[in-house]
Amino acid sequence: MNATAVETLVPILGSITEVREETHDVRTLRLDLADSEEAESFTWRAGQFVMVSVFGAGESALTITNPPAQKGFIEVTFRQMGTVTSALRRLSEGEPVGLRGPYGNSFPVEEWRGRDIAFVGGGIGMAAVHAPLWDVLGNREAYGEITVMAGAKTVADLVYRNEAGRLRDIPGVRVIQVVDPGGEEPGWDGEVGLIPQVFERMGLSGRDTTVVVCGPPVMLGFMLQATTRMGTPPSQVITTLENRMKCGVGYCGHCNVGEFMVCRDGPVVSGEVISQLPNEF
Ligand SMILES: Cc1cc2nc3c(=O)[nH]c(=O)nc-3n(C[C@H](O)[C@H](O)[C@H](O)COP(=O)(O)OP(=O)(O)OC[C@H]3O[C@@H](n4cnc5c(N)ncnc54)[C@H](O)[C@@H]3O)c2cc1C
Repeated sequence: MNATAVETLVPILGSITEVREETHDVRTLRLDLADSEEAESFTWRAGQFVMVSVFGAGESALTITNPPAQKGFIEVTFRQMGTVTSALRRLSEGEPVGLRGPYGNSFPVEEWRGRDIAFVGGGIGMAAVHAPLWDVLGNREAYGEITVMAGAKTVADLVYRNEAGRLRDIPGVRVIQVVDPGGEEPGWDGEVGLIPQVFERMGLSGRDTTVVVCGPPVMLGFMLQATTRMGTPPSQVITTLENRMKCGVGYCGHCNVGEFMVCRDGPVVSGEVISQLPNEF
């Protein structure tokens, strides 16, 4: 490994400057870099991720959820899963974290200009949808109709639920919230069903739509089948892979799928690329 590669593995210091509860087990953190010069030069593209370290506990890959136009700080939204994310959840405002990155490729938002786009997130998958969605909305007039479908098992599990009102106020943006059968509450006025079925039933895609879909692998599989039936080419169905990873820069081989290193060659991939990968998900 050369000196530059080693440098990319050294975390820089950041601190938690805001904590927002999304659901009972999902939280959003605003992270500011300690060094103002580093903060100034820290840029990213929608879809990239950082390795966040909790000192004494370890590191986790987390997607940067705020759009690149918001310079000077980043946001991450995480679900409490195990060792590192539980330790991250125990931290409060003012406490330090380490940050490496940004890593990985990004969503080709420039290529989507003029097209209709459907953003679909299942559960914590909404975290990966958030940066490209707000990146596109930062340049609203360049794109066609925007649909946002946010789904979860229950109403209480909907991530970014409070943003729906703000999104609905933007011209040409349609917001649909979906919960699994049995996950609705009295007074629920959203949809009930599984995301791929509701998406297809509502006819939300077609030949000229780009579909950005992030969520559990089983949901991705059904979404690919549904979009194919709806005439959307697999090259226009874009997702992110979240294989477990360690180094984040293509050295350790923890996240590979065949020859494909998710950290280096992904995490953003099209349905077309997925169909060419070995079936290891
Ligand atoms: C590029 C990328 C971006 C990611 N972005 C986000 C994000 O924005 N928000 C978020 O909440 N999570 C995200 N993840 C997943 C996140 O990195 C893991 O959930 C986290 O590292 C788990 O660490 P832990 O120590 O808390 O869990 P561990 O103690 O390591 O594991 C606890 C449980 O979680 C499972 N698990 C751990 N990692 C993963 C994984 N990658 N995929 C599926 N199951 C896993 C384990 O199998 C185990 O059952 C991302 C992963 C990648 C690779």
